[in-house]
Amino acid sequence: MTGAVALRTTRYRPTVATIDLEAIRHNVAVLKPPGVEAMAVVKANGYGHGAAAVARAALEGGATWLGVALVEEGLALRDAGLAAPILMLTEFPPGSEEEGLRGGLTPTLYTNGGMARLGERAFSVRPSIRPHVKVDTGMHRVGLPPEEAVPFLRRLRVAGLEVDGLWTHLALAEEPDRPFTQTQLARFDRVVAEARAAGFHPRYVHAANSAATMAHPRSHYDMVRLGVAMYGLSPGRDLPGMDELRPAMSWTTAVSTVKRVGAGEAISYGQHYRLDRDSTIATLPVGYADGYRRALSERGTVLIRGRRYPVAGTVTMDQVMVDCGDDPVEEGDEVVLMGRQGDQRVSAEDLASWIGTIPYEVVCGVSERVSRKYVGS
Ligand SMILES: *Cc1c(COP(=O)(O)O)cnc(C)c1O
Repeated sequence: MTGAVALRTTRYRPTVATIDLEAIRHNVAVLKPPGVEAMAVVKANGYGHGAAAVARAALEGGATWLGVALVEEGLALRDAGLAAPILMLTEFPPGSEEEGLRGGLTPTLYTNGGMARLGERAFSVRPSIRPHVKVDTGMHRVGLPPEEAVPFLRRLRVAGLEVDGLWTHLALAEEPDRPFTQTQLARFDRVVAEARAAGFHPRYVHAANSAATMAHPRSHYDMVRLGVAMYGLSPGRDLPGMDELRPAMSWTTAVSTVKRVGAGEAISYGQHYRLDRDSTIATLPVGYADGYRRALSERGTVLIRGRRYPVAGTVTMDQVMVDCGDDPVEEGDEVVLMGRQGDQRVSAEDLASWIGTIPYEVVCGVSERVSRKYVGS
């Protein structure tokens, strides 16, 4: 027993994240460069959208690979019936090699320890396995120093493993005006050329994340790794092609309570939001435990009946209040926390800017307590 209690599917609660799988298919089709393969990065439960459903839609949209951060994420995709190649974006954690290999996950390697642990297992579990090797060209998170790449590939061959992919990760692709991406790609090109000269011919050379896919065609090589843009979200400002993408997630709830509150009264914990006029306050059944971040207190805006209303006072764990002034609002009215209503829109980028983060963190942060509903399948 782990002590964890599985949540039941929400039946009574109107707070739902709706995922448009047609948007995922569309975005993959738009982003994938011709003649280049696409990996759908579905780590962190598909950036909060639901990894298995997104993976299926992405494969339908033209992706051929899936990418995950954890062995557990890869195995969960296998449990869900996905048969496509799945790349682990970091090394298998010690002890997970056997299960990862049995699950058919493709390992990434960049340390001698990682190679040794994998080599021992691969021989008995999956001799046909062909790992990808990661080179650190300037992100300085994980990966081999460029000058160690070819010696590493040689040792890998001696250990009985043939490299199938050679890859790197870009630190600044979302800022195309800054030259460091070119520096990273030049370092990477040198490694690829040295590897080829030494007799290594990996099928996959890959470097591009979403931003690089959009802004740096020279980074496409054999495969692009699509994350945030596949979900229809912007990896940075003013990237080419952003207008063609469709956000896949919208997040809605419904008004649970409406009341008239008199001038001079204050709303929520801490009494930071005091009314200088009588006002209609709507209470919504969503809070920071759902990922509607507490930092949105007095910063967030929601849509009701096609109009924008501010969060009144502190966001609480399960509920939030909004100030509707003298407008007519009723219990049960649909509330858009993220998405479109009428001609208004609250984007993940808006939510991110209100609390000083990036859209990635907004969608990853929509917690498990929020049911995912799928449309467009
Ligand atoms: C998360 C991740 C990606 C996808 O990045 P986006 O910016 O979301 O496109 C690609 N490659 C690696 C190694 C990653 O960790």
